[in-house]
Amino acid sequence: MGSDRFVDPELLDVVVVGGGIAGLAAAYEIQARGLTFRLFERAARPGGVIFTDRTGGFTIDAGPDALLIQKPAAVELCRQVGLGGRLLPTRKPRTAFILRDGRLHPLPESSILGIPRDVRALATTRLFSIAGKARMAAELLVPAARANGDESIASFIGRRFGREAVTYLAEPLLAGIHAGDVTRLSMRGLFPRFMEAERRHGSVLRAFRQLRQPATRSGDGAFYSLPDGLTELVDALVARLPAGALRLNVPVDRVVPGGPYLVQTAEGEVRARAVILTTPAYAIASLVEGFDQDLAALCNDVQYASSATIAFAYRREDIAHSLLGSGFVVPRVEHTTIMAASWVSSKWPDRAPTGHVLLRVFIGGARDPGAMGRSDEDLRLTAEREMGRILGITAAPLFTRLYRWDRANAQHVVGHLDRVAAIERRLAAWPGLYVTGSGFRGVGIPDCIADARATAASAATALSGR
Ligand SMILES: Cc1cc2nc3c(=O)[nH]c(=O)nc-3n(C[C@H](O)[C@H](O)[C@H](O)COP(=O)(O)OP(=O)(O)OC[C@H]3O[C@@H](n4cnc5c(N)ncnc54)[C@H](O)[C@@H]3O)c2cc1C
Repeated sequence: MGSDRFVDPELLDVVVVGGGIAGLAAAYEIQARGLTFRLFERAARPGGVIFTDRTGGFTIDAGPDALLIQKPAAVELCRQVGLGGRLLPTRKPRTAFILRDGRLHPLPESSILGIPRDVRALATTRLFSIAGKARMAAELLVPAARANGDESIASFIGRRFGREAVTYLAEPLLAGIHAGDVTRLSMRGLFPRFMEAERRHGSVLRAFRQLRQPATRSGDGAFYSLPDGLTELVDALVARLPAGALRLNVPVDRVVPGGPYLVQTAEGEVRARAVILTTPAYAIASLVEGFDQDLAALCNDVQYASSATIAFAYRREDIAHSLLGSGFVVPRVEHTTIMAASWVSSKWPDRAPTGHVLLRVFIGGARDPGAMGRSDEDLRLTAEREMGRILGITAAPLFTRLYRWDRANAQHVVGHLDRVAAIERRLAAWPGLYVTGSGFRGVGIPDCIADARATAASAATALSGR
């Protein structure tokens, strides 16, 4: 009764575990190189944290919604899968706001991730006190650190720009985009450009002053999305996989090394000459702990935060604020439950029917882990009340949608790069075994794609040499 299948399971070139963007990008690369493979995904849909919900003319990206243009891997992949003509820039004005003392202040123009490119950009903003501005401008005079080691975002920005820059820029923006804790996230891992600027020019401001205007040269701003949400990219990748290669609803339980690797899944065992693990690092830990406890422990040390996004739909006339911009972030010192809000229908075209507005709120993260213990209803009502106060909303939303992202935000904390180096040293003992995905060498979608493709390319090269 089909015993052949179990005695001598099919030998594949590669098994990919996890069908988020990293797994899909790895599979795309493997297929382009003509190798046989199968991709196992635990969930009923591919994409991992990329998920677009469409309802009543609203297009809601429940997880990520933006592809950073400056890191080209995502845009390049979109072009390769036929989505080049669909890439959409953000709408103007692209102003982002910061909440201070209950009021929204536009980020100084001409800034890089909130850090002014020029001290003149500080002159007119009311976001900082006069003393805070003076301290930021004095960055030009702060001597460069002698040591070249890692430090937290708070430590680096505090040292160079002062406490106010940590409270109102670094915490809500630099740490906020990672749903992270500013005192723990790694500057070297996440924002090496700033450290490099200090090392090479002695001052971040001096280095930024010498930069040409970044991505904005094309007039497209810093981000692209896709008209039907980022699920378009997932769908386009899936459409390019050979029939039967993507196995949904099939968790992998264990990987066993041997000549070829034995991969135990919910639908049976397969053998493969190489295995690319792209699940969150803690899930990788449980797959490898049977044969390498040190590797499992290192993977378990990679931290993750949980968060939620809540989408709110309103009639335009029910919101007093102009919503001219992309949204706002909230420093921790403002004591709100919401960490940030996107004005989705201002940021991207056609996300809401005419006369309507789509807003999206972020909650939780490493800054407020307790929030995830609260009920959906509680989070929804709290966010609705806070948004109402900040934006002058006079009516109840037409509908809301809440999406929970449990342990989905990888946290590259101080020392992360050393941990990844240690993981790579352990992997050297297991030829044909690879890890990639947001827990390792990059968090954003472009970095995940670039690393997954590079990892798949290394696997293919190694296989062709064996
Ligand atoms: C709310 C939110 C907003 C974000 N916004 C942006 C943004 O705008 N732009 C940007 O560039 N980045 C953004 N990011 C970051 C980026 O989206 C993620 O880092 C990236 O998509 C992670 O991809 P991944 O493939 O590594 O992991 P995931 O997407 O987590 O995929 C891992 C997959 O592995 C599967 N899996 C787990 N265990 C098993 C198992 N045992 N067997 C089989 N499958 C398994 C899971 O089901 C999942 O599908 C955001 C992240 C979040 C959470």
